[in-house]
Amino acid sequence: MASTIGIDVGGTNIRFGVFKEAQLMDEIRLEANLCKLCANLLPEHSSFEIMRILSSGIISLIEKGHTIQSVGIGFPGFIDPDSKKIIASPNLPGLSYFNLAAELSRILGLPVTLENDANAAAYGEFILAGKPHGGLIYAGLGTGVGGGLVLNDKIFTGQHGCAMEIGHIIVERPATEASARQCGCGNKGCMEQYASASGIAISYFNKTQQNLTAAQIAKLAGEGDKYAIAAYLLSASALAQALASITKVLDIKNLVIGGGVSGAWPLMKLAFMQRFEADLIPVLRSTIQIKVSNANDKAGMLGAAILSTAE
Ligand SMILES: [Zn+2]
Repeated sequence: MASTIGIDVGGTNIRFGVFKEAQLMDEIRLEANLCKLCANLLPEHSSFEIMRILSSGIISLIEKGHTIQSVGIGFPGFIDPDSKKIIASPNLPGLSYFNLAAELSRILGLPVTLENDANAAAYGEFILAGKPHGGLIYAGLGTGVGGGLVLNDKIFTGQHGCAMEIGHIIVERPATEASARQCGCGNKGCMEQYASASGIAISYFNKTQQNLTAAQIAKLAGEGDKYAIAAYLLSASALAQALASITKVLDIKNLVIGGGVSGAWPLMKLAFMQRFEADLIPVLRSTIQIKVSNANDKAGMLGAAILSTAE
């Protein structure tokens, strides 16, 4: 039986998984700082480089003996729902209006599909949850915060490929901050400025003037550091506020939280649940099933792989 490849394109590494249906058969990871690369190269060179890196990963899996029928890519950017071109990628500039899927398909002679990375992860979680009737909402807490919605067995992309940009829901700013934080999208006070790994790092820096990663701050929180604990409580509260708003719009029961920051969920759970439940309308309280992903970040590759067989 032929396999599919699912690719999760991150800012500093790219993961390639070989799947037979939903089963991960093989995996490779290429380290490549795409953010730095795209920032330093001309647009035509950025697109050439990303093509070179992606095709080398795919070819090395084929050379290992896998028979591949299609390739799906989860990509950090806005994807045009009709043409499937990259509209824009805030962290990987220079790739705007590039048709990565079509160009790779031409080189490899294989069907290639492209989807937003959070949408691909949402679809992967939907598969892993046994395709729940009623759909699924996904929130991925990484460098930023991405979101995805699966409805009627399909990704809901919106008309401009911008549906579920939950990281940019503006949340109430903490009373201890003089002004709302500036977001890369141009607005102030977006949820991801508090709830993402970089938001947690900002919260900690603002109190201590120390530049640490979210993982280092989680470790300190576990040791009782009050500023580290406060950074995670703020992250939980901002996330809960945004997800309660989404829940009031969509009334979907299955909510999955994934991404690197979700590994610190024990630091966030209580504050999240208190704020989430309080913000819901009474009839929805205690009805939403919140699950922290246990897919070890494989959901993005899985979703991309399965979506590539659906076209
Ligand atoms: Zn924003």
